[in-house]
Amino acid sequence: MEFSSKLLENAVNEMSQLPGIGKRTALRLVLHMLRQPDSQTFQLADALTKVRSEIKFCKSCHNISDKELCEICSNPNRQEDLICVVEDIRDVMAIENTSSFKGLYHVLGGKISPMDGIGPQDLNIDSLVQKVKSGHVKELIFAMSPTMEGDTTNFYIFRQIQGTEVATSTIARGVAAGNELEYTDEITLGRSIIDRVPFEASLKS
Ligand SMILES: [Zn+2]
Repeated sequence: MEFSSKLLENAVNEMSQLPGIGKRTALRLVLHMLRQPDSQTFQLADALTKVRSEIKFCKSCHNISDKELCEICSNPNRQEDLICVVEDIRDVMAIENTSSFKGLYHVLGGKISPMDGIGPQDLNIDSLVQKVKSGHVKELIFAMSPTMEGDTTNFYIFRQIQGTEVATSTIARGVAAGNELEYTDEITLGRSIIDRVPFEASLKS
């Protein structure tokens, strides 16, 4: 792609780094912005800068938060001894949308995937194991996507906490194998949490 302006080329190159945005789409977006009032672009740039520089991760559950403890962890009406283990923040949002879950979350930040070079040490697993070993947790619900990597991750955590008193369960597989949680409709996802099954039973099936 030939550009008449270095500034334009730069903006297009940066924009095309985003997933799903090729050079052509990037060019269309940048040209669109140039046609809009400049305040719109400045607000976008400002929001992006702030989300990068000011956002925090909850020190307890690793959810994205504006404060040290997220809104969910600091809500006294949530059931503290029930923890739903999820892969990422989008899963928290999907499960919150169902309004079926009143416990807390633990965001792992990914799943164990040797193919992608992601091991247990790259995820928020240690802090989860510590939380369980502190004795304040009654039940862990594994709500990972039903993929091989999700299963591997569940099983790894299950092994790490064996010998503790904590109960483990996994969400019912109304979620078709290979589906990502965030695309599951709210009713199905809500039901799959309510109808959760003991984790060990899921291993035998
Ligand atoms: Zn939190």
